[in-house]
Amino acid sequence: MAKNSVIIMGGGMAGLTAAALLSKRGHKVTLLEKEEKTGGYVTGFTRDGFYFDATGAFLAACKPGSEFHGIFTELGIDTNLDFLPIPAIRNIYPSFELQLDYRNPAAYVESLAERFPVHKDALAAYSTLTAKLGRQFLAFEKAPLWKKALIPLLYPTLFRCARHSHGTILDRFFKGHPDIIHALSALPTTLPPSQLSYIFVAVLWAKVLKDGVFYPRGGMLKVTDMLRQAILDNGGTIHTGQEIRAIRNSMNKVNAVVSQDGTVYEADWFIGAMNPFHGQAMLQGEAQLYGKVFNLKRYTVSPSALLFYVALPAHALPADWPYFVSLHTSDDPELEAQAIATGIYKNGLHLVITTPSLLDPDLAPQDHHALKVLVHAPQASIFAKEFPSRESIDKLQLDIFAVIKEKTGLDLAANNLFTVQATPQVLIDRTGNEEGAMYGFDSALGQVGPGRPPLATKLDNLLWIGHYNRPAHGIVGSALSGCFAANIIHHK
Ligand SMILES: Cc1cc2nc3c(=O)[nH]c(=O)nc-3n(C[C@H](O)[C@H](O)[C@H](O)COP(=O)(O)OP(=O)(O)OC[C@H]3O[C@@H](n4cnc5c(N)ncnc54)[C@H](O)[C@@H]3O)c2cc1C
Repeated sequence: MAKNSVIIMGGGMAGLTAAALLSKRGHKVTLLEKEEKTGGYVTGFTRDGFYFDATGAFLAACKPGSEFHGIFTELGIDTNLDFLPIPAIRNIYPSFELQLDYRNPAAYVESLAERFPVHKDALAAYSTLTAKLGRQFLAFEKAPLWKKALIPLLYPTLFRCARHSHGTILDRFFKGHPDIIHALSALPTTLPPSQLSYIFVAVLWAKVLKDGVFYPRGGMLKVTDMLRQAILDNGGTIHTGQEIRAIRNSMNKVNAVVSQDGTVYEADWFIGAMNPFHGQAMLQGEAQLYGKVFNLKRYTVSPSALLFYVALPAHALPADWPYFVSLHTSDDPELEAQAIATGIYKNGLHLVITTPSLLDPDLAPQDHHALKVLVHAPQASIFAKEFPSRESIDKLQLDIFAVIKEKTGLDLAANNLFTVQATPQVLIDRTGNEEGAMYGFDSALGQVGPGRPPLATKLDNLLWIGHYNRPAHGIVGSALSGCFAANIIHHK
C-alpha cells in the first residue's frame, strides 16, 4: 500500500480519529488545529478541583465489537479506556415522569410499556417496524449498486418509510396520545418529530440502543487525550494554534493549505474536519466543495446550547439523584422545538442535567459534585438578539435554576460554590461551528443517509468529514466519518 502524506484541518473528534488511524497505518500525518487544545466539542476543563465536560454527556457503540470501540482496538488504546454504563435516564414532563432504560431496545420498550400499559401492543409494533427499518438501512448502505436498484423488492420497509418523518410514524401508532409521543421523542436530537427523519431514529435503534449508552471514566477529555497520544505515538505531528485561512487549489486538486501566520502546508491528501461553509469560503476561484447536488446552502444546521457548569456540595443533591436528568417544561414536542428555535423559553424549555461525578467520583473533590446543565438554545445570532447582555443571561440562569428547583427540588442558586457559563457564541469561538450548531447539519428529512454530504468532494484529493457529513452527527458519527476517510486514503 502506498504511504501518503496527509494534512488534516481541524482536531475535533473527526480529525483526531482520521489522524490517529492514518498515523497508525504508517502514513505521514500533520494535524492542524486553530485552538491551543485539540478535541473541538469533545473537551473539558478543571476548576478548583472540579472537572467539567464542555459539551457531551454520553457515548454509544462502546462495547467490544462495535464500530466505535473498533477504532480504539485498532489503535491499541481500548484497554486504557473504561466505558461506564449509564443507568436509566430520568425524564421529567409537565404531567408525568418516566425512567427510560437505554440498555437495549427491549429494555427501552419495556420501560415505556410499564408507564403506558394501554399502548403495549402499539409499542411492540412500532419497535418491530423501527428495528426492521434500521437493519434494512444499514444493509442497503453496504449493498452493491445492482442490489440498491432493487430497493422496492429487497428493502421494502426502507422503500416505504424512507421519506417519512418520525412524526408521521408516531401518529400512525399513537395519534391522539401526546404523552407517549413526547416520551418517544426523547432522543439525542434537537428536532421535533414532524421534522426528524424516521431513518435517523431507526439507525439510532440499530446502533445506539443496541448496546446502551456510556460515560468514559476520566471524562470526555480522556477520549480526546487518548486519540491525541495515539497520533504522537505513531509518528504523527500536531500543530495547535494553526488556523487554516486558505485552501490553494488548481485543476480539481488541492496543492496546499495556508495558516493565519502564512505557513504553507503541502501534502498528497487533505482532509477538512471543520465547518464546511468555512472550507468553501477558503477555496480559490470557482472551485466548489460539493457542486449542485449537495449544495451546502440547501442544508439546515441544528440549534445550539447554553451551558452552566456548577460546583456543588454533595448534600445539595436530592436523594437518588441520577447521572442523567432530562427536563421538559412543555407538553408538546413541536411547541418545545419552536420555543427553543426562537429563544422564547416561556413556551418551553428542554434541559439536560448531568452529574458525572456520580459515575466517577474522581471528577470532583470528596463530598462534592460537578454538575452540568445543558439548555437547548436557538442558533447563536437569534440567542444574541433575545439575550443581548451579561445581565440578561444571568437573569435567564436564575430563571432556569428556579425551574429546576420547582420540578426536582435541586436548589442550584442556593448551593452552587461557583457557576461557569458558556453561550452559543462561546461554542462558535472555540470550534467555528456554524451558528454554534450542536450537531452540524440537522437530522431532518433529506439530510440523513444518502442526503447528507458525502466525504468525497469535487476536488480529487480533498475529503470532508465531521458532523456535517456522513454517516451522522454526534461523537460517534464524527469519529466514524474520520475512520471512513482513513479507509479511503489507505486503500487508494
Ligand atoms: C452542548 C453539546 C452537547 C453534545 N452532547 C453530545 C453527546 O452527549 N453525545 C454525542 O455523541 N454528541 C454530543 N454532541 C455532539 C458532538 O459533540 C459533535 O457532533 C461532535 O463532537 C463533532 O465533532 P467534529 O470533529 O465533527 O467537530 P468539532 O468538534 O466542531 O471539531 C472541529 C475542530 O476544527 C477546529 N477548527 C475549526 N476551524 C478551523 C480552522 N480554520 N483551522 C484549523 N482548525 C479549525 C475547531 O477548533 C475544532 O477543534 C454535543 C454537542 C454539543 C455542542
